[in-house]
Amino acid sequence: MIIEQITTLDFSEGLKKTQTVIVPLGAIEEHGPHLPMNTDILHAYEIAKKAAEKLTVFVAPPINFGVCRSTADFPGTITIRSSTLVAIVLDVVEALYNPGIRNFILYSGHAGMNHVAAMLDAADQIMKRYDDAKFSVITDLELTDAEFFKLVETPADSHAGEIETSLILSLAPELVGELPEPDFPKFPKPLLVKDTRKYWKSGVWGDPKKASKEKGDKMVNILVKNLIGLVEEISR
Ligand SMILES: [Zn+2]
Repeated sequence: MIIEQITTLDFSEGLKKTQTVIVPLGAIEEHGPHLPMNTDILHAYEIAKKAAEKLTVFVAPPINFGVCRSTADFPGTITIRSSTLVAIVLDVVEALYNPGIRNFILYSGHAGMNHVAAMLDAADQIMKRYDDAKFSVITDLELTDAEFFKLVETPADSHAGEIETSLILSLAPELVGELPEPDFPKFPKPLLVKDTRKYWKSGVWGDPKKASKEKGDKMVNILVKNLIGLVEEISR
């Protein structure tokens, strides 16, 4: 049940069958010269919708804005403060809890550290408020398994590389441009840098040229399967 596509009556009827929701999150941020800036939202929302085709679960509209650090200097990235994301998650969960949702899977296609920390912060705050609610805070990583990583050829593939390019080739191939060369940026650790683009020209972290639609189809299937497993577990 895709919440933005059903009526309030459908929602009430649906609550008799399930009290579980997947809330997709993501970010609008640069994803190299070849992937759309909604890459993280697009794949999380599509994977959630595919799961909802196979079992009864609510899927909330995605929370489109996220907390971005390393990509923040690239034109078009729209980052929000961690406190803003915490506030949005708290409000969305409360609005879904009130009519009767009890199990919340916060599933982010964007895995920036500050972003995930804000999601966890929000979940921690709400868990204390509601005794009868269950929460899971995940990124794609928690939905991967050994079978998934057998498909990946690039070590340390992390942003707009083999994995994300394969996912978008599977889910929205019309949005994928010419695949760029691999890049593995080196930042002066442990220092924090103000101008990330000085160290990272391409906006790619990994090897997009290793991506394919076939790999993407298999990756999507695995992520959907493991998300369904999580829905079943949290709904028990
Ligand atoms: Zn991404």
